[in-house]
Amino acid sequence: MKISFHGAAGEVTGSCHLVETTAGRILLDCGLIQGGKERHERNRAPFEFVAADIDVVVLSHAHIDHSGRLPLLRKAGYRGPIYATPATIDLVRILLVDSGHIHEEDARWTIKRLRKKGKDASHITPLYTQADALAVMEQFVPVDFNDWVRLDGLGRVRFVAAGHILGAAIVELEIEDGDACRHVTFSGDLGVEGARLLSRPAQVESPEVLLMESTYGDRDRDEEDDRTEALFKVVRDTVERGGKVVIPSFAVGRTQEILARLNDLVESGRLRGVPVFVDSPMAVEATAVFTRFPDVYSKDARRKYCSGDAPLEFDGLRLVTKVQESKAINASRMPSVIISASGMCTAGRVKHHLKNEISNARSTILFVGYQARGSLGQIIQSGVSPVRIHGEWFDVRARVEQIPGFSAHADRTGLIEWYDGLGGNPDHTFVVHGDPEAAAALAATLRQREANVIVPQRGESYEI
Ligand SMILES: [Zn+2]
Repeated sequence: MKISFHGAAGEVTGSCHLVETTAGRILLDCGLIQGGKERHERNRAPFEFVAADIDVVVLSHAHIDHSGRLPLLRKAGYRGPIYATPATIDLVRILLVDSGHIHEEDARWTIKRLRKKGKDASHITPLYTQADALAVMEQFVPVDFNDWVRLDGLGRVRFVAAGHILGAAIVELEIEDGDACRHVTFSGDLGVEGARLLSRPAQVESPEVLLMESTYGDRDRDEEDDRTEALFKVVRDTVERGGKVVIPSFAVGRTQEILARLNDLVESGRLRGVPVFVDSPMAVEATAVFTRFPDVYSKDARRKYCSGDAPLEFDGLRLVTKVQESKAINASRMPSVIISASGMCTAGRVKHHLKNEISNARSTILFVGYQARGSLGQIIQSGVSPVRIHGEWFDVRARVEQIPGFSAHADRTGLIEWYDGLGGNPDHTFVVHGDPEAAAALAATLRQREANVIVPQRGESYEI
């Protein structure tokens, strides 16, 4: 058996690993490279394997750093099945179509810029289009959690819940290899203890070969010091001042986690009469997907759902899709909560809400997620004033708050607890999906358990 690492090896994004045996070739994930100067070049570079020679693709979850190059894999000639959970398939459709849209916009913008300078722009094309994204969706094959499913002539696959985002799976493979059957487990991205909607990662038994993520391999996050309480305080104080709370949030996952907590506050009677707007077409679509898959919620959320109380529906919640409605929110002076994308304020409707509220001393801008260096979100968070939005300058008079700790990734302790739950060291453990320091730290901890650990680098292959 040979395993090759083509992305998320020595780095976080671009998850892509190839498992080859005498029976065939299985590709685990095919993600977009995000961040870093050479990302454009790398995303456009040809695959280091022959796409048409892949027999099966298995997708751990919908996030674009795991799924975002699938349209390119199809364009490179792959026409076989892509196995994923039903919830992942619904979410990945939203994310890939959005990704196609962004690439089309980027190309259009670059062409415009080049032409303005009198330069040739005939070579500029989108990385892929919305049509490319829709085309690859036809290759998806749904696989429910916990069922072993046969892969034609290759062996079998099973998904168990990883708890990271809706539909996210730990992938277990039993692959034929000559007369042997090789047991390979891919952790995908592992979720957290204490999320409102999803459970902690399911436990699996120790495989022969483990590919394990290490995003937070060197860090423990603060204890869950009641994020619902922190959210309540920000909303209550802002409403008392007569302002609005603008929450820039990622459309998939984070928005629903915030909604579930607002749901608790409204239904316990602590928050009354405050309209909550979700103003992002993508977040509204993603929320609809969450409501379609209550069977993959955590036990608590499922119990609530069974008793007739949907965790993402409450009085005062309005899901906004039309531009007219979005403008009406801006026109109203009534205190409210506005959850809008993009999460780092780099695009989308949240910029309009920021323009309206950022100079209003009664209002609050509340950050609930990571802000990359140089993004508008990070600039606001760092206390700079004035800030530029859509070419205009605005003084920052609104309060700027943040509630950290809403990550969907297991921290150091969570990762190690999951590993210890395997009940023994795998023969080989490959630590992937982490910055060099995080991967090295997790590897060192696992070696203390006498595990045979390798931190593979991109482009490396291992014969096992
Ligand atoms: Zn992820």
